[in-house]
Amino acid sequence: MQDIDTVPAVGTKSTAPARPGVPTESQFVGTPGATGELETVPTSVGTKINPLGSTCEITRRFRNFVHFWRENPRIARFALQTEARSLLPGHRVRNCIRARVDNRRPVDVYHVPHLLSAHYGNLQTCGSVWVCPVCASKIASRRRTDDLTPGVENWTGQGNMVFLATFTMQHLAGDTCSEVLEAITNAHSEFWRFRAGRRIKQVYGIAGKVRSLEVTYGQNGWHWHYHVLLFVRDKLSLSQVEDMHQEMAEHWQYVVSRSGKFADSVHGFDLRHSDRQVVDYVSKYGSEGEGKIDTWTEAHELAMSTVKRSARGGLTPFQILGLSLAGEERAGQLFLEYVEAVKGKKQLHWSKGLRKAVGLLDEKTDEEIATEQEEHAYLLAQLDREHWRLIVENAARGELLKVASLGDQEALREFLSDFGINAYYPEV
Ligand SMILES: [Zn+2]
Repeated sequence: MQDIDTVPAVGTKSTAPARPGVPTESQFVGTPGATGELETVPTSVGTKINPLGSTCEITRRFRNFVHFWRENPRIARFALQTEARSLLPGHRVRNCIRARVDNRRPVDVYHVPHLLSAHYGNLQTCGSVWVCPVCASKIASRRRTDDLTPGVENWTGQGNMVFLATFTMQHLAGDTCSEVLEAITNAHSEFWRFRAGRRIKQVYGIAGKVRSLEVTYGQNGWHWHYHVLLFVRDKLSLSQVEDMHQEMAEHWQYVVSRSGKFADSVHGFDLRHSDRQVVDYVSKYGSEGEGKIDTWTEAHELAMSTVKRSARGGLTPFQILGLSLAGEERAGQLFLEYVEAVKGKKQLHWSKGLRKAVGLLDEKTDEEIATEQEEHAYLLAQLDREHWRLIVENAARGELLKVASLGDQEALREFLSDFGINAYYPEV
């Protein structure tokens, strides 16, 4: 923890030479907008001027970032993490992949040959799936490959079925993030607790559920929804599936109306049952939304909700973070509102006994997954405190991993020498 003081925040003076032609994380962080230190310049009429410049300039920068995000998702996640950190100075994300675990030891750089990837050792991780894009990506990908995919395959392989149910409710632009979340959480828990829900479970042989809590932000405000995988025993006939769909939709409308909200019969509830649809969901789990925004206009209209043109979909929390990184102050406020609302909430939940029934071991916590090291990794280099400080200051944590993922010590040596770093390279 002591490392917090020794590693200054990104945005301090860079000591590395610029490498022209190569887009880097440092182009997007380390600016006033990225560190959250927006200075305002008073004018004679007392209005505030955005120091980042005109909307036109922000537009250009955001477009660049979306392009950058698509081309370099791993590096972009570090840039977004830096933005989350500057918005939330008290949050544990501040030390994630930044401060060392053991201050007496260097920072390790590992290479994983069979995955062509790289990761750090002896650095703290925050394990926050809601706030930290770096941890969220790792946790989602592990949960997908280690839990969801084999769980669904084992279950269906034994002659059973898996359905994907989606629960949503109507909300208004004026509803706060917590209000909508509270309403949908209560309605969903009542759905299964009430007699009609218990009956549905029994009649259709629902042996267990995995529910995933997700949110987007659109012109009607915060759109919370549950995606729920239903593990059903044996095979249902088509007419049974239709009956189940209808009964669930009606029951959902009922529990939602109890909370003074509304779920319409078409959009409030959805049930998908083809293997393909379920597999599609599972395989995309946690990865939706990365770099999805194409233009500033689209994103700007959504985030600001001041323009009436209809927009497709909504922004994911990390896209909101991207807007904030591009200098949109309102987006930063939205992200903070969201973080406040999700405090203490679990993103993914397995119902009791289901993991065992589908042949999985006990569930690991988000924090455990975030700190997990890849097996079959070997040490490529070690950076002492001063070297690591330079990498952090120059917003080069993601780029370093990109280079290290090749497993070529010479390439890494060249990359680090650009920063004036002569690291320790063990024999491999
Ligand atoms: Zn983290």
